[in-house]
Amino acid sequence: MVKLTEWRGKEIFRRYGIPLPRGRVVRSAEEALAGTESGDIPLPCVIKAQVLAGGRGKGGAVRFASTPAEAAEAARAILGLEFKGETVKELLLEEKLPIARELYVAFTLDRAARVPILIVSAQGGVEIESVADSELLRLPIHPFAGLTGYEKRRATRALGLSGPQAKSLDGLLDRLWRAFQHEDAELVEVNPLAVVGDGVMALDAKVSIEDDATFRHPEYADIRDDRTPLEEVAREKGIAFVQLEGNIGVIANGAGLTMATLDVLQQFGGRPGVFLDLGGTDDPAKVTEAFLLMARAKPAAVFLNIFGGVTRCDTVARGLVDAIRQVPDSEKFPLIARIRGNNEEEGIAILRSAGITSLHELEESAKAAVAAAKGAA
Ligand code: GDP
Ligand code: MN
Repeated sequence: MVKLTEWRGKEIFRRYGIPLPRGRVVRSAEEALAGTESGDIPLPCVIKAQVLAGGRGKGGAVRFASTPAEAAEAARAILGLEFKGETVKELLLEEKLPIARELYVAFTLDRAARVPILIVSAQGGVEIESVADSELLRLPIHPFAGLTGYEKRRATRALGLSGPQAKSLDGLLDRLWRAFQHEDAELVEVNPLAVVGDGVMALDAKVSIEDDATFRHPEYADIRDDRTPLEEVAREKGIAFVQLEGNIGVIANGAGLTMATLDVLQQFGGRPGVFLDLGGTDDPAKVTEAFLLMARAKPAAVFLNIFGGVTRCDTVARGLVDAIRQVPDSEKFPLIARIRGNNEEEGIAILRSAGITSLHELEESAKAAVAAAKGAA
């Protein structure tokens, strides 16, 4: 899933004709000052940290300013802040609008019903998770019929809009639905959707794009702020690779065994770090590549836990031995190996010839990995 920051989401909204406040992105206090002085950004304005986490309003990452000096000061205060683990590098400055009411609208996928769904609530402006279920209206959308007048009328009624405001919502929902479909989004959320004068406007934008559709949207390729640089390399090579907080690297095959391996390490007091799922492969070169990538993450120890099936033990062993020769001295780490299953004997023999012992039992090998990581740390 590619999550977009607010300003990128709003850029999409703009292309689809959704009404938005005027404003722009700045990356320094000087830019905030210049932008507000020139009238490029109308005053009074809102200054919003461009991070993916929600709850900025409550968390002090949304501020207001009525003069260029105040805008610059707010920008200086927010830029560089850590907000829920993200460093604020960009701000969105927009005109501050007189809001009559804050509403909520979103299109997303209802995975249980397997259809798109429109969610609306008159309780906008707060995090949707905190809104009572009874305050949310969920309207499934027929994937072939698309958004029809029926859902729009029900939404309008639930939001208590009439006259020109109802008409404005009608147009906004059509455009938001079009954006949801054409951008292959998993979510397009407007919270708050503000009632301003005779119409409604998107004051916030939360858009995420379906990963499997990114090949249709090369424009999102550079925006993967949710991946680490190594995860990015892995993705390009087609390796399933995830960086966690811990220090024990895990190489396993199959999602089930990989997750179980993480759990076992945790159970014995270890902290799993990078994990890598070899999946099914019969190419030792792919194993080598995966292992070298693991080395670059500088784990304190690596636990290799393979159950040979499609991926035969000897394939893994060959790739591994080849990789170990290529790992630079500065990136060496203790390796605990356990390979069982298809062509086990052969695999174990290959490892032994390279001085690596394959342990037999899961518990003893997991404990050995935890101890190795503690010794190294
Ligand atoms: P979030 O808390 O991270 O979802 O950030 P939002 O973009 O939703 O902003 C939080 C709150 O700031 C909104 O619910 C509004 O109450 C307020 N806000 C944002 N833009 C404006 C604006 O243009 N005018 C006014 N009066 N309030 C705004
Ligand atoms: Mn919001």
